[in-house]
Amino acid sequence: MEYTEKDELLIDNRWQDLLRSCEKIATEERDWDVIKKAFFLAKEAHKGVRRRSGEPYIIHPIAVAKIVVDEIGLGVKSVVAALLHDVVEDTTYTVEEIESIFGAKIASMVDGLTKMAGVFNSNVSEQAENFRKVLLTLSDDVRVILIKIADRLHNMRTLGAMPPNKQIKITSETIYLFAPLAYRLGLYGIKTELEDLSLKYRFPQDYAEIERKIHETELKRSQLIETFNAPIIEKLRSSGIDFEISGRVKSIYSIWLKMQAKQIPFEEVYDLFAIRIIFKPTAIIPEKSQCWHIYSLITDIYQPKPDRIRDWVTIPKANGYEALHMTVMGPGGMWVEVQIRSERMEEIAERGFAAHWKYKHASLSSSGEDDFDRWLKKVREALNSPTENAVDFLDNFKMTLYTTEVVVFTPRGESRKLPKGATALDFAYDIHTKLGHKAIGAKINHKIESIFTPLMNGDQVEIISSENNTPKREWLAHVTTAKARQAIRNYLKRDTDNNIEKGIEIFDEKMREFGITPSARVFRKVLPAYACKTKDEFYSKLGAELINLDGIEKILRQNSANKILKFWTIQLSNPFKSRAGENKKRNSGSKPPISVDSDEPEFTIAECCNPIPGDSVVGYQNPDTGKIDVHKTSCDELTRLAAQHGDKITSVKWSSQKAMSYLTVLEFRGIDRIGVLMELAQLITGELNINIRELHIQSHDGIFEGTISVYVKGMDDVNEIIKKVGQIKGIEKVMRINNIKD
Ligand code: MN
Repeated sequence: MEYTEKDELLIDNRWQDLLRSCEKIATEERDWDVIKKAFFLAKEAHKGVRRRSGEPYIIHPIAVAKIVVDEIGLGVKSVVAALLHDVVEDTTYTVEEIESIFGAKIASMVDGLTKMAGVFNSNVSEQAENFRKVLLTLSDDVRVILIKIADRLHNMRTLGAMPPNKQIKITSETIYLFAPLAYRLGLYGIKTELEDLSLKYRFPQDYAEIERKIHETELKRSQLIETFNAPIIEKLRSSGIDFEISGRVKSIYSIWLKMQAKQIPFEEVYDLFAIRIIFKPTAIIPEKSQCWHIYSLITDIYQPKPDRIRDWVTIPKANGYEALHMTVMGPGGMWVEVQIRSERMEEIAERGFAAHWKYKHASLSSSGEDDFDRWLKKVREALNSPTENAVDFLDNFKMTLYTTEVVVFTPRGESRKLPKGATALDFAYDIHTKLGHKAIGAKINHKIESIFTPLMNGDQVEIISSENNTPKREWLAHVTTAKARQAIRNYLKRDTDNNIEKGIEIFDEKMREFGITPSARVFRKVLPAYACKTKDEFYSKLGAELINLDGIEKILRQNSANKILKFWTIQLSNPFKSRAGENKKRNSGSKPPISVDSDEPEFTIAECCNPIPGDSVVGYQNPDTGKIDVHKTSCDELTRLAAQHGDKITSVKWSSQKAMSYLTVLEFRGIDRIGVLMELAQLITGELNINIRELHIQSHDGIFEGTISVYVKGMDDVNEIIKKVGQIKGIEKVMRINNIKD
C-alpha cells in the first residue's frame, strides 16, 4: 500500500529524532554521510511495506537504531548496521551490494543479522539454527548481538500486533534466551524490560494486577522512603560526599517471580523497593574505600543484616556489575536494601558491555584479560562444537548465561568462578577435560566428598582422579556448566551411535518376527510404554540393553486409549489473552488450526507440569509421538520448547463437553493432631465427593507434611479442596504441586 502523506510525516519525524540522538556519536562529516546513506537505502528498500501494526516498515529499523545509540551506547557503524538490519533478509539487496556501498565491516554485521533462508531438513530446528548463527557472531563482534537484542526489544515493545501463537514463540525465546543474554552482557534496563513485556503477554492478568497494586501503594511507599533517606542524606552531606539517592521499585517480573516461588500474595512481598546511592568519586581515595566509608556511615544510623552484605566491588559479577549491597533494619522494623555505587559503576550497570569497554580501554593500566574476556572465552568453547545439533547447542549456550555464581579455590589458592549449583565434577572439567573424565572424588576443604557435591562459596577443591575412570551417562544430571556437559556428551556420543545401530537391528528383527513394519503408529504405542521421548532414545536404550522387548507383544496389542484426552482447537482460542483492537484479519502468520474432522488429534498431558482443566494451556506438536503435548502456559519446559521449535506451538483449549477426571497432587502441612487425617480424608471423599488415589504422610517434631493425589474435574475442584482443607483445624498450608510422582 502506497504511503500516505501522514506516513511520510511520521517517518520524517522519527528520522529527525534519530538524527538528534546521533549528535553524541557522529563527530565528522562522513559519519553523517554514512548514516544518511543507510537510512535512504533502507527507506527505499522497504518502500510500500508495512509492519503488522500498519506502520511503514522503516519505522522499525529507525527504532532499533535509536535503541542502539540511546540505550546501549554504541557508535556510528552499529547505527548503520541497525538501519540496514532487515534489508538483506526482506528485500532484494544482497550482502555483496551492501559491501560495495558500505564496506566489509558493515556488510559482515548485516550478514550476521540476516536469518538463514532456505531448506532445513525436518529434524533440524530452523529457529535453533538461526540462533546458532547469531550467537556464533558473538565471538567475532559483540555488537551484532547487541543490535539483535535491540531488534528483539523493539519487537517486544510492538508485540501486541502479532497473532497469539507468534506471541508465544516470541515471548518464549525472549525469556529463554534474550533476557538472560541481555543480563549477561550487563544490560540491566533492557533485561528488565524484556522480562516485564514477556510477562505482560504471557500472564496479562497477573501483570495488570501487580502494576495496579504498585500504583496504589505508591504514596505510602514514597513517604516511607523519604523517612528512611532523611538521616542518610544529612550524614553523607555533612561528611562532604557528593551523591544522589533514590528509591526504586523492583520490576513487575521480579515481584511476580517472588510471588510464584514463595506462593505469597503481593502484600507479603516485603522487599518491594531498594535504595540506591550513586556517588561522585574524589580523585585521591579509591572507589572501593569510598563505598565502605558510605557503608560505615549508614550503619551508624541503621543496623545491618550481617548475612546480607554483597561485595561486588572487590569481586565484580561476571557481567561486569560492581556495587556494594547491604540490607539494614529501617524504621518500623522493615528490612531495606541499600545499593552503593560510584558514577562509573552506575554507568556499567546501566549500559553494560559498551560502558565496560569504554572504561577498560580508558585505563591502559588494566591488566589484559578480565572477567568479560574469560566469559567470551567460555562462550567460544561452548560454541566450538561442530558435531552438536543446533538444539543441544542452544541448551549448552544457555548454560553459559547462568548468572549467580560461586567463587571457589584450587589447592594453590587460585580462584575460579562457577555457576551456582556447580558440582566438584564441573570444577574438574573447568580445569581440564581430561581431569573431568578421570575424576572419581574430590577433597572439599580437605574432606573427601563425592564428585557430585555442589560447591559453596569459598570452598577449596582438589580433584581425586583415576587413570581407568570414564564418564558415565548419569553424570549429565550432576553438571551445570556447558563445558562439562559437552565434554561428557561428546564422550558418550561415540557409544550412543553404536548403540542406536544395535538397537535398530534388534527392534527390526523382532518386528519381522511379528510381520509388522515399524510405522509411526507402532512408535506411538512403543515409546510411551518404554518411557522414551524419541526413537533414538528408545533405540540406544535397547542397544545398550537398558530395556528389552520381552513385553512388546502385549504393548502392540494394547488399545492406546488410556491417557488420551480429547480437546478441540479453535483458531482464536488463545491462552495469551488477545488484545482489544487487534486486527483479526492479520492472521497470515499464525498456523492453521488443527482440524477436528475424521481423525481426531490425540493429546497427552505433559508430565512436567501436569495441567488440568482451568489451567491456561498451550499445545506442542511432538514430532516423535505425533500427538499434541498439552503444557501449562507457565511451564519451563514449554518455554524451552517454544524457544527452540516455535513452529510446533499451537493454541489449544479445554473441551467443555467432556467430563473427565484428571489426576492432580496437593501438598499440605500442619500441626500433628489426632484425628486430623481422618477429617481430611472424610472431607475430600465424603463432603466433596472426590476420589483419592494416594495419600502420603510424614510426621516429625509435632509437624506433619504430606501429599495427596486426587481425581478432579478441573481447577474449580482444586480450589474447593484448598479452601475447605485449609479450614481444618491444624492444617497450615495446602497447595497444588506440578509433578505426579509414581
Ligand atoms: Mn528486525
